[in-house]
Amino acid sequence: MVRDMALNAQACKRCGKLFNYISGDKLCPICREEMEAKFQEVKKYILDHPGVSMTEVSEACDVQSTWIQKWLREERLELTEGSAITLDCESCGAPIRSGRLCNKCIDKFKAAAGNYVRSNRSSEDDPYQRSASAKMRFLQND
Ligand SMILES: [Zn+2]
Ligand SMILES: [Zn+2]
Repeated sequence: MVRDMALNAQACKRCGKLFNYISGDKLCPICREEMEAKFQEVKKYILDHPGVSMTEVSEACDVQSTWIQKWLREERLELTEGSAITLDCESCGAPIRSGRLCNKCIDKFKAAAGNYVRSNRSSEDDPYQRSASAKMRFLQND
């Protein structure tokens, strides 16, 4: 994945140290390792304390809640049933457990993608296929 070895000095957003940035979070190798350790700590804490709130995890593990939200959106972190931690759906604001959208909004977007393809094509495949082929065509035309 390393396409270009040219130096790309960036300040680490956690400790401010300059480092050679390649991809992903703007974190120096040391902070990257520390955040990985934090991630494991948070994951374990949530498993050991079902029903814990975002603030409690944040304080117990000494990690900003923005990190916890980020891990949840990336679906690296999973919440147990009955967990007090929720994220907001980016479309309607409904509480969700992971990702970016609630199931209702996911269905809405899927239906919209399905309608788009149907108006361009008469075939009746399953909706997953339809939205996938719409995406493919979009990428090819781009
Ligand atoms: Zn750093
Ligand atoms: Zn929603």
